[in-house]
Parts: sequence; C-alpha cells; structure tokens
Amino acid sequence: MNAYDSKRMVDVLAPLGYCQSEQLENADLVILNTCHIREKAAEKIYSELGRLRAIKNERLESGSPMMIGVAGCVAQAEGAEMLRRAPFVDLVFGPQTYHRLPEMVARAQRDMGAREFSGRGIIDTQFPIEPKFDSLPPATSPGPSAFLTVQEGCDRFCTFCVVPYTRGAEFSRSVADVIAEAVALVDSGARELILLGQNVNAYHGVSPAGGEWRLAELIRELAEIPNLERLRYTTSHPRDMTSDLIRAHGEIEILMPYLHLPVQSGSDRVLSAMNRQHTSENYLDIIEAVRAARPNIALSSDFIVGHPGETEEDFEDTLTLVERVGFAQAYSFKYSPRPGTPASAMEDIVTEDEKSSRLARLQEVLNKQQSQFNEEFVGVVLPVLIDRKGRDENQLAGRSPWMQAVHVDFDRPESAQLAYGKTIDVRIMTARPNSLAALPLNKLGSAG
Ligand code: SAH
Ligand code: SF4
Repeated sequence: MNAYDSKRMVDVLAPLGYCQSEQLENADLVILNTCHIREKAAEKIYSELGRLRAIKNERLESGSPMMIGVAGCVAQAEGAEMLRRAPFVDLVFGPQTYHRLPEMVARAQRDMGAREFSGRGIIDTQFPIEPKFDSLPPATSPGPSAFLTVQEGCDRFCTFCVVPYTRGAEFSRSVADVIAEAVALVDSGARELILLGQNVNAYHGVSPAGGEWRLAELIRELAEIPNLERLRYTTSHPRDMTSDLIRAHGEIEILMPYLHLPVQSGSDRVLSAMNRQHTSENYLDIIEAVRAARPNIALSSDFIVGHPGETEEDFEDTLTLVERVGFAQAYSFKYSPRPGTPASAMEDIVTEDEKSSRLARLQEVLNKQQSQFNEEFVGVVLPVLIDRKGRDENQLAGRSPWMQAVHVDFDRPESAQLAYGKTIDVRIMTARPNSLAALPLNKLGSAG
C-alpha cells in the first residue's frame, strides 16, 4: 500500500511541477514514505534522515534548498517527536493526509529559510473527516500491473498490530470511485489490477444503487472492464472470507488462482491471545472450501513466531498447520512489539534466540514447500504478464497466474520489447526457490 500511496503522492504533486527523480542529490523535495509494521522502523528512519541532513546542508550552501518530508505510519506515530529529533525536517504527514501535500509544500516553501532547521516544520497527522480519495487527481498506471486501494485501515485490533492506530478506522471506497479509478488505470496501460486493503475482504463500499457491496460483488463488476486481464486482491482476514468470495474464485476467470490469507499461528491459544477471532480449524475449513471452488489455487500466508506466551508446543502447532495446508509461498516474521499495542504490554516474553530458532525452523518447512511447488512447473507452458525489465536487454520478467516471478529470455532485444505489457505463453525451463526461468513459446518452434 505504501507503493500505491507513493505513486499517488507523485500524482498529487504533478500540477505543482514536480516529477519523480532518479537522483536523490538533485531532488528539490525528498519524501520518505515509511512503514511501522515491524522492527525498529523509527530508528531506521532517523538514521536515514541523518544522511539526508548532510545533503540538505550541502544544497543550502550551494543556494538550491531541498525540502524533506516524512510520510506514512512512522510519521503518523511519531508526529511532533519527529521534528524534535530531526528539526531539519520540513513536513511530517500521515497516510490519510497526503492529498494535502500541495498545500503543505506551498506553505513550507513560503517560509523556507526562516523556518528551516528550526524544528517548526509542518505536521499534518489528523485523521481527516473527508477521505483523501475525494481529493486525489485521476490515477495513471505505472505499468502493466497496478495497485488500487479499495479499503483502508482496520477495526479488527489484533493485539500485536499497529495498523488500526496508524492507518486508522476501517474505510471502504465507493464502488463508483473504485470503478472509475480501475477504468483510468486500464486506459493508461494496466492489464492487471491488485486490489489493496489492510483487510481488503472486509470491503463494504456504497454500491451504485445506494446499497452496499462486499468484495466479491466488486470483483464481479471489475471483471467486466474491457482489456483487463487479471485481478488479484490482498490482504485478507480469514474471518472475512465470505462464501460469495470463495465462490468467486471458482467463477471469475480473470481472478487469478492465488490467495494470500494470513493465519499468523497454528495454535488456538496463541490465536486467541492475538485476538484473531478464528481457530486453526476455521482456517483449515476455509482452505478446504477455497480449494473446492478452485482446485489449482496457490496459497500464501503470513506467520508470526514468538508472540508473547508462545510455547514450543504452540509453535509445533504452527508447523503442523503448515504441513496440513501446503503453501506455495509465505511471509514469516519474528514478533516485534509495537508501541501502544496490547501485545506490547503482555508478559511471558519469548527470548530473541528462541524466536530466531523458531523462525529458522518454520522457514525451512515453508521454503521446502515453495521449492516443491515451483518444481512442479518445469516443462509446463503458462501465461506470464510481462511487466518488468530483466537482467539484460534480452530478458524480461513477469508473474505467472500463481504469482511466481518468471524470468523470460528472448532471442533478441526486439522480441523482448514487443512482449512488454503483454501476456505471453512461456515454457518453464528451470525452477529456483523464489522464481522460474522460461523461454517464450514461439522461440521453441511452437505456435505462439
Ligand atoms: N491485515 C493482515 C495483516 C497486515 S500486516 C492480516 O490480518 O493478517 C502484515 C503482516 O505483518 C501481518 O500479517 C503479520 O504477519 C506481520 N505483523 C504485523 N504486526 C507484527 C508485529 N508486531 N510483529 C511481527 N510481525 C507483525
Ligand atoms: Fe492488523 Fe490485519 Fe489484525 Fe487488522 S486484521 S489488526 S491489519 S493484523
């Protein structure tokens, strides 16, 4: 979602004459868009800001000042503290106020010089009453695959999670708003849309008839957009996997056969301490229903090891769940206490060594599952949406329907150029733990 937000900041600043720069040293405005979900996020930002301060000093001496903004959830959480610790920062704003960037930048520019390095930068971290989406300019796609935020914030309050405090209360954009943005993205080159939300399947936006649509209904409508070839959504909560959404996986062809459904733990005791509001059995039932609807679906998840109170037995329950499901891919993390969350006040802390050892054991199983999943594709022909450059001009990369990264080697740079932005059939030649290597089908002499 930060990638989506950063792109929208670029869109909102364009009318002021700003464009994205590849070179930090020459930038007139530097924005750090930050994440607060895990680890020592704030410390990392302060150390990065230290580096920026040196550049800002040099720029000031050369007579071309540079403005520094800090955006995102660390800015939201730190607020005024950020200006105290880094008085050379000009703007501090949260994830819900970046539509006001033009105004903030104009104000900061006006008193630049008088205010610079004074710790009197502009702070805008209130949660506004009007959603930012109403004030953003039309979106353009950054490439063949585009993110589209449909839902933001969260009301679930898992005990370990900072999202409800930094992104704020759950909010769904209206169906009309989402469709308008989807059409604009497709018109400007997107062939795949990835619908985003902290809890995307909690989506409940106002429908065209004035009622309310859930995510499944929204997906059915989006699937009708001409030239849209692929739809995905992330991240979901097991409690919000409605039967209609599960059915949609079997019925909507362009909804890709991939589901990221975080479970966090396989122990009911830990799930309860996390306030996840589901058991491991509930999760397995959902997986069974999803697989019945779309038998070839690839499953992905998030795991936290070492949540306060997690015993060896609890952890083994997580390993058992992983064995029972069989994931195509997964993200796993050591629990990291987040300031202000209920879990951060819980006792019975798991030692850092224990967390590391559990994470290594879990990742060993998950990596094995991912490798096995990938190896089954060797020799198979599958469609890849080419959306990225590769290692050299003969190579491009994209995603399989199952979200695997696929590197495709062409015989000439011209053939590669022609394939960019298209979905092409490729034959998988090699499987690696995190990606697949392929050749375009026509190079092998088959039709393509
Ligand atoms: N809405 C999603 C999660 C969004 S946060 C859900 O309900 O699952 C993305 C992932 O970061 C989470 O799934 C979790 O695995 C991880 N995470 C969140 N808070 C964390 C913390 N305090 N410590 C370690 N990992 C955390
Ligand atoms: Fe955080 Fe997800 Fe739980 Fe919401 S549902 S509190 S975003 S982990």
